[in-house]
Amino acid sequence: MTYDLIIRGGTVVDGTGTPPRTADVAVTDGVVAEVGRLDGSARRTVDADGLTVTPGFVDVHTHFDGQATWDPHLTPSCWHGVTTAIMGNCGIGFAPVRPDRHEWLIALMEGVEDIPGSALSEGITWEWESFGEYLDALERMPRAVDVGAQIPLAAVRAFVMGDRAHDTATGADLDAMSKIAADGLRAGALGMSFGRTAGHRSASGEPVPGTYSEEDELAALMAVMAEVGSGVLQVVPAGVGGAMGGDQRHSIDAEIEWITRLGRQYRIPLTFLAMVNEQDPHDWRSWFAAVHEANAAGAAIRPQVASRAFGMLMGHQSRMNPFRHRRTYRELMELPLRQRVQRLRDPEIRARILAEPPDPSPEPTADQLTDHIFKRLYPLGEALDYEPAPEDSIAAIAERQGRDPWEVTYDVLLGADGREFLLLPLLNYAGNNYDHLYNMMSDPVSLQGLGDGGAHCGIICDASMTTYLLSHWVGRRTRGPGLSLETAVHRLTGDPAGFYGLGDRGVLAPGRRADINLIDLDRLGLHYPERVEDLPGGAGRLIQRSDGYVETMVLGQTVVAEGELTDARPGGLVRGRRTAPVGSAV
Ligand SMILES: [Zn+2]
Repeated sequence: MTYDLIIRGGTVVDGTGTPPRTADVAVTDGVVAEVGRLDGSARRTVDADGLTVTPGFVDVHTHFDGQATWDPHLTPSCWHGVTTAIMGNCGIGFAPVRPDRHEWLIALMEGVEDIPGSALSEGITWEWESFGEYLDALERMPRAVDVGAQIPLAAVRAFVMGDRAHDTATGADLDAMSKIAADGLRAGALGMSFGRTAGHRSASGEPVPGTYSEEDELAALMAVMAEVGSGVLQVVPAGVGGAMGGDQRHSIDAEIEWITRLGRQYRIPLTFLAMVNEQDPHDWRSWFAAVHEANAAGAAIRPQVASRAFGMLMGHQSRMNPFRHRRTYRELMELPLRQRVQRLRDPEIRARILAEPPDPSPEPTADQLTDHIFKRLYPLGEALDYEPAPEDSIAAIAERQGRDPWEVTYDVLLGADGREFLLLPLLNYAGNNYDHLYNMMSDPVSLQGLGDGGAHCGIICDASMTTYLLSHWVGRRTRGPGLSLETAVHRLTGDPAGFYGLGDRGVLAPGRRADINLIDLDRLGLHYPERVEDLPGGAGRLIQRSDGYVETMVLGQTVVAEGELTDARPGGLVRGRRTAPVGSAV
């Protein structure tokens, strides 16, 4: 037997959650032909001795809706093993759209997800109005990795209701929205998304249409999904961040109530975002209990969890910098990083900035530091410690050294040639550790996600959470328990693929797509986040690269090798559900 490819002697973690085993993986025509001890030859043989062989990762929570129209690789996610990226999350996206609403949808994406509007304006070609036409446009473009799209409620509302997009939907509106949803799902959308938090605002400050949608609207759309019989509903519940961003404290309770009730009624796969907030760190337990109860009664609900804190990175490469409110720093802000850092090292400039009072700002911003925040502000450090201990905080360092925390902040940010970041965890970090997060993650009802690939360009790069899950949580966590390798891989592959109805991927078994990661686990790790100006029109974003992905393959073709993007374009648009090949393992 001659195969196209044999990956020999690797440690195969097949995505089903079963323990690792040493095996060969053979690929023919982009599909896994055999897994086991194989004779036979191949046009290409890869020696995977010492490497871990996993399915390509399925990232259910990205915001590549714009980027997918110009970037075939979807960086930075492709540097983190992602071979299928699902977008259209959180109720926002770029279809359906009327011609006069392009900039309006861009402002929504810019405000909620911090993707530079100029890049979106420059990059998106708008060859569509309907959701189906958007899918057609996505499908026309050659791709390295696969992409799938959900229908965002805000775009549907704006399409149907125009200037009334924030009002209560009428019966006629509901009919029109239902038709768009049904057409989109039949055209191959992987689901729908509702954004319901007041914390999400467009660049002009208006809430996301749909934030305050009433139950008859939510139910009508869920009924459509049940009727069409495909697609996942993704929900950002009000109150997901506690009282952060303008939601009422505990407003999530009412959300869990309708989610579980309508989830039982319509039985569609549904995932809602779940994070730990500081004021009520134990609340997630009641949400999870309600979900377990609903699922026992026929619902298919998965709280979606991250694998690290949600917060922001401050520094000279970030849009958030504690000194940007001081005049002297602001004068230097336009300088390229290297020159700026050179100037900041000048003792005279340092003294001047530290002595300057911050400008009174019309609105408080998150990087206006207070004594309370210094206790929660941590140098990321060379080790990229995303789970720092209280004694690592700026406040603790300042106290130990008998210095002013502002001075410590200033000096820390000049570390690594000015590339150092300060981590400000805002959610998932109650108690200054990941104990609550661990408990959510280790409950199999939770769905791994929330990486927001392609989004939050100015202050975060969480697309790297897949790599973080496999490095920090498997074997390296010191402040509590971790996950087994097979569990972590399952959470990135077979589990999300199965939930989204993508039975053709996520598992290394005969008949499945040969989307494969070859990983050197000993080397697996993250680089410092870095700011690059590579978006359309030269707009900037924070990216994060990785070490340890020897190769990432889509349909057996290498799309990334040791961080380098290749010219192969085996990827495409994922249209709708895919059944698993007959007789293969689930
Ligand atoms: Zn999101």
